[in-house]
Amino acid sequence: MKSILFIFACICCSVYSQNPKTPNAPAKDLSCQKTDAEWKAQLDDNAYYVLREAGTERPFSGLYNNHYEQGLYKCAGCDAPLYVSDHKYDSGSGWPAFDRAVEGAVSYRKDNKLGYARIELICSSCGGHLGHMFNDGPRQTTGQRHCINSIALSFVSDDE
Ligand SMILES: [Zn+2]
Repeated sequence: MKSILFIFACICCSVYSQNPKTPNAPAKDLSCQKTDAEWKAQLDDNAYYVLREAGTERPFSGLYNNHYEQGLYKCAGCDAPLYVSDHKYDSGSGWPAFDRAVEGAVSYRKDNKLGYARIELICSSCGGHLGHMFNDGPRQTTGQRHCINSIALSFVSDDE
């Protein structure tokens, strides 16, 4: 019985991660949970504003907007691997853009803060705000644009 439940859980997970058009709440069991005071101590003011207060950095201001080195982009809050350079592209928007996330690494949440529905992207491990997802990404791949704040990411080069 346990194994059946396990298989069922796996199927559910894969459906969730492959169907981002149906926003789902972030996992309640975040693997990295910290108090607000702990986040404030760890992150600088700008990173705290984006990751923990769902802020947005100014377009064309971020470190990774025009950054195309080969490597891995991790969460600046908890170090979870979120995006790989192979899925990064130039959207012209002024923020780093990816056509997909590392499977299961990013969760989707409805965001109506601007008065219309957007899909917020958050780190599945720590719940940190990363950016938003739009459906104007590259048509030849996923059609998705994960519009991510540079400051929510930390890059590790393949050479390191
Ligand atoms: Zn994180």
